[in-house]
Amino acid sequence: MEETPPCPECGGRTRLRKGDYGSFYSCRRYPDCKGRVDAGGKKKRRQRGKGKAAAKR
Ligand SMILES: [Zn+2]
Repeated sequence: MEETPPCPECGGRTRLRKGDYGSFYSCRRYPDCKGRVDAGGKKKRRQRGKGKAAAKR
């Protein structure tokens, strides 16, 4: 079984998800509840160029 932290918003269950910024736990009630917990990644990516596309041109 997977261990998942409780949702910080509603205290409910969360599930592990993987996104561009690494793994995180999102509430199972999403999108009704938007609570999420960082999985505390081994892979922590920092993206510095966040408005780069907009600045380009
Ligand atoms: Zn929740």
